[in-house]
Amino acid sequence: MSVDKTEKPTNFIRQIIDTDIAAGKHAGRVATRFPPEPNGYLHIGHAKSIVLNFGIAQDYQGTCNLRFDDTNPHKENIEFVEAIKQDVLWLGYDWDDRLFFASDYFEKLYEAAVTLIKKSQAYVCDLNAEEIRAYRGTLTKPGQNSPHRDRRVEENLDLFARMRAGEFADGEKVLRAKIDMTSPNINLRDPTIYRIRHGVVHHQTGEAWCIYPMYDFTHCLSDAFEGITHSLCTLEFEDHRPLYDWFIQTVGCEHTPQQIEFSRLTLEYTVTSKRKLTSLVEEGHVEGWSDPRMPTIAGLRHRGYTPNALRQFCYRIGVTRADNIVEMAVLEDCIRDDLNENAARRMAVLHPLKVIISNYPETQVEELQAANHPQKPEMGNRVLPFSNEIYIDQADFAEIPPKKFKRLVPGGEVRLRNAYVIRCDEVVKDAHGDVIELHCSYDKDTLGKNPEGRKVKGVIHWVSAKHGIAAEVRLYDRLFTQANPDARNDEGKAFTDYLNPDSLLTLTQSVVEPSLCNAEAGQAFQFEREGYFCLDLGHTSGNEMIFNRTVTLRDTWAKIEKKN
Ligand code: ATP
Ligand code: MG
Repeated sequence: MSVDKTEKPTNFIRQIIDTDIAAGKHAGRVATRFPPEPNGYLHIGHAKSIVLNFGIAQDYQGTCNLRFDDTNPHKENIEFVEAIKQDVLWLGYDWDDRLFFASDYFEKLYEAAVTLIKKSQAYVCDLNAEEIRAYRGTLTKPGQNSPHRDRRVEENLDLFARMRAGEFADGEKVLRAKIDMTSPNINLRDPTIYRIRHGVVHHQTGEAWCIYPMYDFTHCLSDAFEGITHSLCTLEFEDHRPLYDWFIQTVGCEHTPQQIEFSRLTLEYTVTSKRKLTSLVEEGHVEGWSDPRMPTIAGLRHRGYTPNALRQFCYRIGVTRADNIVEMAVLEDCIRDDLNENAARRMAVLHPLKVIISNYPETQVEELQAANHPQKPEMGNRVLPFSNEIYIDQADFAEIPPKKFKRLVPGGEVRLRNAYVIRCDEVVKDAHGDVIELHCSYDKDTLGKNPEGRKVKGVIHWVSAKHGIAAEVRLYDRLFTQANPDARNDEGKAFTDYLNPDSLLTLTQSVVEPSLCNAEAGQAFQFEREGYFCLDLGHTSGNEMIFNRTVTLRDTWAKIEKKN
């Protein structure tokens, strides 16, 4: 699958929309929304929802609103609001002038609640949280009516106004919808629609309110107020749909959006529950929400993922109502495909071993040319200085080679990529017997061609020791050692017990080729034979370079998984 070709996806939601348009429903209009709660950073699962909602709006000449579902002020804050906006834009979508907050509707929602009271469809209840739970019944046992269910309209109006005015303490009273305490669907057993919350400062409304509407009441009415046509949400809301419809119908809204559910994305070897991501951050298992190991959009960006790769990923996994547990390899393939096409090639020696080329003039420097991309001449060339001192990777030399070792051995030859063939003449060791340097000789007739009469199989990368730039390289790997850390409930274990202790390996001795001195923060490269890397987003010129490994060249976990 080519990454440049963005085909219009098909899925059951788009089929419903096609049918609706053909039937003239909503006058042929398509309006969606992406409704995050600003209580954390967006993750890869949200990307699925963003690509779905904004993608549908784009393809149907419709609109997609960004709406913050901000009814839980004690868990929300403005940092999350700003981070979410940045992530949506970065993914390539724009809400234009349609940025909304559910809190924009607090007054309208209050009026809607008053409408329900006036229609005898809502009442103020004095039961506490525990009593409400006890009265609610269970899946097999019907609930019981609250003793306050039959309060008169006037009394309810008065109490609700006094709840708003701050006369009651937290938990002393709630407003509930009057639906059916015996409904087989527990969501319809007189759900709470307003609760009292004193002493919280809301990031949008400050201290204007001490009562806050519940999600189920707010969400559907916000959709209706905005004229949303198709309200796409994840499957856990399926049982809430009757309530969604009940509120819209009973309040008597002008627009009647339709809720359609699809399955949540679950990605192997990570977690996408916001509660768990929050605890990874708060307990210090990672360095914040944008740690490159996090499945957050900010983390993936820091890791070197591109918006294009994430969009491709969302297209590939599709949208259905079936379980959506996706292998990490699917995500990694998307970024590999993108970077294979677009990342310039460079040489970087991660674990350097000094090589002295004894027959190369000590003061000579040659400027060799190397293509930035083997298949794309239009990406041009860069200059590789070659001198008598170079670094190769420690792994590319073996004194006692294992079977089939094609790289450098004592007395053997190897080709330096984009340069000459060298032969290892002498191995220099320190007092512990560790190899610290190799003395080699080069064959000056082998630049760009094979030596006469000899076959040299191995090709290794290198960097001129006199010209290379010291760099720190961070090798990131999966955050968890188990495919489903979220779902495992082994005796007494927490999901954090499955954190991968090797999820970050920091190399401080690496050397990269000098052309990288002009790299920009976030720029991606293929370090030949090593993988795809990007210059850290925090890089500023003049400071030490830090490269983050985005992904390995091949799926190294596939083998490990086969063995297990
Ligand atoms: P919370 O428990 O905080 O509500 P949430 O994951 O539902 O967590 P929201 O901010 O409410 O987070 O989600 C915004 C939108 O993204 C919702 O429409 C939600 O259905 C969707 N979404 C969230 N997680 C996923 C996921 N894993 N796959 C697909 N869509 C998701
Ligand atoms: Mg939610």
